Amino acid sequence: MIMHEKAATSQPPSLATAQALFDMHCHVDFCDDPQAIMKQVRELGLYMFANTTTPQDFVHFEQIITAQQTSATQHNSVTQQPIAHQPHIVAGVGAHPWYIADDSISDSDLQLLEELIQTHILIGEIGLDFSPKHCSAELQFPEHYASERRPNAAKARQIIAFENICSATVKAAQIDGRKRILSIHAVQAADAAHDILAKTKALENCICIYHWFSGSGNVLAQAVHDGCYFSVNQKMLATRRGKSYAQQIPTTQLLLETDMPYTGQTNISAADITATLQQTLHALSTLRQQSPATSSFIAEKTVELAATISANSQAIFSAAL
Ligand SMILES: [Zn+2]
Repeated sequence: MIMHEKAATSQPPSLATAQALFDMHCHVDFCDDPQAIMKQVRELGLYMFANTTTPQDFVHFEQIITAQQTSATQHNSVTQQPIAHQPHIVAGVGAHPWYIADDSISDSDLQLLEELIQTHILIGEIGLDFSPKHCSAELQFPEHYASERRPNAAKARQIIAFENICSATVKAAQIDGRKRILSIHAVQAADAAHDILAKTKALENCICIYHWFSGSGNVLAQAVHDGCYFSVNQKMLATRRGKSYAQQIPTTQLLLETDMPYTGQTNISAADITATLQQTLHALSTLRQQSPATSSFIAEKTVELAATISANSQAIFSAAL
């Protein structure tokens, strides 16, 4: 894909082509060479929501992105004005529930997160994880937790933090009129997460994206009704429940993601991410055929699905800039 270059004006540059791929949840800062990926995305016409997992990681990663974008700025040969490029990567301010549960994200880190929310639009990865590994009474808690709170401290910390984060996003949106975009992790906790999104009014005031949704069918139906988006990845499509959900979600609320890099496979390029997104798109399209279809029919439907998902993504991506 070739991006059209435009001289800097008050108008934002036009976004991607009709079928440009968007990875709406990945972790570029965990890759071995984030700078290389940042260079490759522009050539490949790939766009990314790069989630982070702690506020400090976000601050560090944003500095890398800013430095890369500054060094990549081109100038109009006649006017010498900088050419406005559409950024291909937007970083999310994150506080992953795993690190809230084990107290490696401190209260002052959460304070920093709430401050960052005032000036940043993409918030992720945030959420709740009530799986035993991340909600166990065996987790070691620091002394400042009263002993009677310790058995539920991991869960309580996550709930309080997620409520505060959602409230901060709503408050920020009400002040500056810009909807925050939330990339939400909800493992064995989708009902609690959705309740908090409703209670804090994040559902109305934010663009809520469930990353790799794995909750119950009832929560899925409610979240669809409430206008949430769902970013679907390859691993979700490997499970029976994930496949079923991927068939039920309306096309207008579907997004793609990779959640890459995978553990132990951090030496990846933007081409690897593109290939994974394409495979996910094809698998999704195949799953959504009503009856056995020919490969040419699937290819035709994949083009249609790609265009709709790309349009959904472009609308959200534009809101983040
Ligand atoms: Zn993630």
